[in-house]
Amino acid sequence: MTLDLLAIAAHPDDVELTCGGTLLKMAQRGYQTGILDLTAGEMGTRGTPEIRAKEAAKAAKLLGVQWRGTLGVPDSDVQPSRQHKLRLAAQIRELRPKTVILPYWQARHPDHYHASTLGYEGCFLAGLKNLPIAGEAYRPFKILYTTAFAEVRPTFVVDITKQYAQRRKAILSYPSQFRPAKGEKPEKVYLGLEQLEDEMDRLARNSGHLIGVKYGEPFLMKELAKVDDVVKMEVRSI
Ligand SMILES: [Zn+2]
Repeated sequence: MTLDLLAIAAHPDDVELTCGGTLLKMAQRGYQTGILDLTAGEMGTRGTPEIRAKEAAKAAKLLGVQWRGTLGVPDSDVQPSRQHKLRLAAQIRELRPKTVILPYWQARHPDHYHASTLGYEGCFLAGLKNLPIAGEAYRPFKILYTTAFAEVRPTFVVDITKQYAQRRKAILSYPSQFRPAKGEKPEKVYLGLEQLEDEMDRLARNSGHLIGVKYGEPFLMKELAKVDDVVKMEVRSI
C-alpha cells in the first residue's frame, strides 16, 4: 500500500484529537490516508486493549482513513531505541507515505515527545539503503508536527470547519476513555465528556481564529513555505 498521508502518534485517540480533521479533509480530497498508533494504549487506566482497538477502528472509519495499524511498542515505553526505530522504518517502507504528521517534540507525557523523535528518526532511517530490514529504501518527502496541545506558535493552520462535526464523532468513538461505565462513579482520571467537548471546541476555535475561520488544526514545519504568488496569499493581515 502507498499512502499520501500518514499520522503517527503514541496512543489510539491521540491522532483524532490533534489532526483528525485534517486527515478527514485529505481523505475527502481523494488522498490515501493512514494512522499508525505506536502503542495499543494498554497502560491506559480505562478500557482493555481489545476495547480500544475496536474504538480505534470505528474512529478510523469515521475519518475515512484507508489504513490503521499498531506498531506494537509497549505503552509507556515509547522511545527512540534502535529496536523501535527499525520496526518503524520497516513500516514506513511498506506504507511509503509522501507526508507524515508527528506529535510536537515537547509535551508533558514522555510517550508523546518520544513519539516525535522516534517518528522522525524512523522516517530518516527508512531511507538508508543498507539498513538491516526488509523493503526498498524510502523516505517521506514532508514531515509536519501537530501543535494542538503545545505552547508554541504554529506555522500554518488547516481549516477544518466542514470536518469538525465528523471529527467530533471520531473523538467520541472512544467511550472507554471518556465515559464511566454504567453504575461506575466518574473519577478524576476521566476527562469528563463535557470537559472534553469544551476543550476540543476551544482549541479548534482558537486555531481557526488565527486564520479567520471557525475551526482549525495547527501544525508546525521546520522548513519555510515556498510562495510563488504574493498577491493570491490567503489570511487577511488587517
Ligand atoms: Zn496519548
